[in-house]
Amino acid sequence: MEQKFFLYARKSTDVEDKQVLSIEAQLNELRDYAKRENLNIALEFIEKQSAKIPGRPIFNEMMRCIENGDADSILSWHPDRLARNSIDGGKIIYLLDTGKLASLKFPTFWCDSTSQGKFMLNMAFGQSKYYVDSLSENTKRGLRQKVRRGEYPGLSPVGYINDSRTKTIVVDKKSAPVIRQAFELYSQGNQTLNTIGMFLAKHNLLTKHGKRIHRTRATFILSNPFYYGHFRYSGEVYEGKFEPIVDKKLFDRVQEVMKQRGRPRHKQKNEPQAYCGLLSCGTCGMMITGEYRVKKQVSGKEHYYTYYHCSKKRRDIKCPEPCIRQEVLDEQISSLLQKVSLPQDWAEYMFGRLENDKTESAQSVSAFVLKNQNRIKDITVKLQRLLDGYLDQDVEKEVYREQKAKLLSEKKSLEEEISRNEQKQKHWLEPMSEWIKEAQNMEKIALDSNLLNKKVAAKKVFGSNLLLREKTVSACTPNSDSFLTDSLADSGGTPWDALRASHASVGSSDESRIMVPRARVALATSSSSGKHSAN
Ligand SMILES: [Zn+2]
Repeated sequence: MEQKFFLYARKSTDVEDKQVLSIEAQLNELRDYAKRENLNIALEFIEKQSAKIPGRPIFNEMMRCIENGDADSILSWHPDRLARNSIDGGKIIYLLDTGKLASLKFPTFWCDSTSQGKFMLNMAFGQSKYYVDSLSENTKRGLRQKVRRGEYPGLSPVGYINDSRTKTIVVDKKSAPVIRQAFELYSQGNQTLNTIGMFLAKHNLLTKHGKRIHRTRATFILSNPFYYGHFRYSGEVYEGKFEPIVDKKLFDRVQEVMKQRGRPRHKQKNEPQAYCGLLSCGTCGMMITGEYRVKKQVSGKEHYYTYYHCSKKRRDIKCPEPCIRQEVLDEQISSLLQKVSLPQDWAEYMFGRLENDKTESAQSVSAFVLKNQNRIKDITVKLQRLLDGYLDQDVEKEVYREQKAKLLSEKKSLEEEISRNEQKQKHWLEPMSEWIKEAQNMEKIALDSNLLNKKVAAKKVFGSNLLLREKTVSACTPNSDSFLTDSLADSGGTPWDALRASHASVGSSDESRIMVPRARVALATSSSSGKHSAN
């Protein structure tokens, strides 16, 4: 029997759909694709709503029709058109498992009914958040480039102003001389930080709230390298492009005076510990902080250890959570990380598929670009001919203007289509292969003793969803309470969640839904035993 397809096109106005083809463009491409592949389209479904949360009316209607047996296949531009949440995604995979759905086709995504294929599909469904995250990652990348060019990406300190017209930082003619004088004054050695604050106040340099600048703030000003032309950005110093207010020699002298005059600053009792800022308390929601302690025994022997506890900053609750030793915490975090590691053979398989996909999409992109470029060339020739005709007075002025506007608009559309098509690659292929690399590396990080690496990895995978309660770390997924019935349905959010769900589904469902062969997972979930990757 011939397969009957439903065609589904969707685009919302939400940020995650910003770079997606318009509905009209999706329809054009999908109809072309159906013709090429000889697909029998029974009905077209069009939706203009986000797929982040379940409950799209048109999508639900289509699902009902499939359960009724009106069609057994779906054609859509990309899996993220069908679902960007785990419930809808789970529904589709369930229909595939039960045979109500025979196949899914996407021009931009390979998809087969093997367990690997379903896993990839599941990840694509859960990709929404990951995609949005990688967008913001791009913004950060832009900031870093700016910084490397010597442009300070933030609000300039007093003495400078952000010129919004030129997007640069310029010296503030009013306050800069005062700042310079403050440096000079302090460098003489007979001033306190408080008198510097008073000097600044006399010249109308006050805090945001109109109060006198106190010693901490004065210290900050007098030790800010910004004033001799450098700036700090996320812990690193860069050479700025803006004009310095003081020279380095004066700045250094001020630092010298500050060191001599300053009382020995009270030493930081507790340097920040590796896992600080990673977890929050499962009882009261405050951050978990770490402390380094020396314990003296009666014998005089000293013991060093680090432990973590709730910062107990809430006033309304007296948090009863106990503290936990770093070794114990580390073991748990390592075990959680192992659960999102990607076995070697899976990574290889996925890379292989991605490579194929990349080549195919690159070919189709370049063919498309060539076609459009040729059409643009044609238009340019037509425009020239039109102008010639007009100059020779063969063409009326009105006709000329109208024709010209039409051709130019056509040209612009073609140019835009080219650039949109070139972005297609970035949409799914690049973030996906980045992700595979990271997931592959997770095992190594988990087994390593570098706590900071583990923290960075854990932040990436779990975000701010790690809770510590009764000395046990758990990852809460924001929406995992109500629909845990289907093991695939709890994989909402990121591909990490999908991977975790697949690891967790071992033993609870049939073989086709398990992503890793049983033996491997058994090893991966027991935190103490060694490696499970085959290399
Ligand atoms: Zn607490």
